[in-house]
Amino acid sequence: MERHFGACRFVYNHFLEVRTKYYAESKAQGKAQGLNYFKTCKMLTELKKEYPWLYEISNPSLQQSLRKLDNAFTAFFRKNNDYPNFRSRKDNQYFIVPSGFRVDGNKLIIPKFMEGMEYRDKKAIPGKIKQIVVSRDVSRYYASIQYETEEELPKGNAVIGIDMGIRAFLTASDGLQVEPLNALRKAEKKLKREQGRLSRRKKGSENRKKQIVKVQKIHQRIRDARTDFNHKVSTAIAKHYGTVVIEDLNVSGMVKNHHLSKSINDQGWHQFKTMLGYKLGWRKADLITIGRFDPSSKMCSKCGNIKHDLKLSDRIYHCDACGFKMDRDLNAAKNIRNMGLIKVGKGIPEFTPVESATAAELSKGGLRVATL
Ligand SMILES: [Zn+2]
Repeated sequence: MERHFGACRFVYNHFLEVRTKYYAESKAQGKAQGLNYFKTCKMLTELKKEYPWLYEISNPSLQQSLRKLDNAFTAFFRKNNDYPNFRSRKDNQYFIVPSGFRVDGNKLIIPKFMEGMEYRDKKAIPGKIKQIVVSRDVSRYYASIQYETEEELPKGNAVIGIDMGIRAFLTASDGLQVEPLNALRKAEKKLKREQGRLSRRKKGSENRKKQIVKVQKIHQRIRDARTDFNHKVSTAIAKHYGTVVIEDLNVSGMVKNHHLSKSINDQGWHQFKTMLGYKLGWRKADLITIGRFDPSSKMCSKCGNIKHDLKLSDRIYHCDACGFKMDRDLNAAKNIRNMGLIKVGKGIPEFTPVESATAAELSKGGLRVATL
């Protein structure tokens, strides 16, 4: 696997250089032509003669590196992305297996790996496998199996707005509240301690190398816990709601705020939003994103009055105009839902009752939830 990672990275980097040079030279001659995927595939055959160890690597996997590189160039030329970067040894390592694979019990059989590789998840794959991506994160290996299925996933009916927060991970406009993950706090304390130890180890020493692995493993545990948490919450929400409105969080702007940064990183909002988006998409349910607007917390969700003197410490929203009282985050979530519906021209619907099935599913999964 390590050789496959290394070879795919090598091919990617080699052809990034080749394509960069080719483009510069043709531009200098006034042609401004680039290389495409097929041309680099042909050049790969020649490159193998120069570096025979590449013959040990599955050719379709090497070609996928060229495909990835070609996609990176396309994104760059369409101005969707920056110029492609070299892949580093330090990045997460992966290679793509686009064909020639087979699943036998809990063994993955892929080209060039004669005996196959055992994997832990024993769930049967419910569709036709399209491709497999093998990756490594610190010291663990993963296989992502992409498959196609005819299975139709049901879509929920209810419409909710979601307020993402620090005190509560999220508050939904129907009263569902999900608390943040405490395990992350604990792991972060440990991380700090071990990082302190690392800084005291002598450079180049064996002990320092060991300590680096230790720190990487804590990072990995934090990532795993966060990903698991985000999967549970996004799955439950995507299952039960037909339309979800969420604020377009300006995370990069907020992370600069010293106080908030830790919690925001903790909770991986960005990851959560990405997951929620694609999971709703599977069910043909809608994710509506609204711009970040101040009144979501300052506005009264009942009468529309704006409370200018609302402080961050006020946990209860108390409207001076109509006397309405409500949990601050719940009030914000209701405003977010209403703004989202206005944005798509649906107007404001009747109040939807708590989707209690979501809360039940999440607490069964070990998460702390409340109903406001
Ligand atoms: Zn009011």
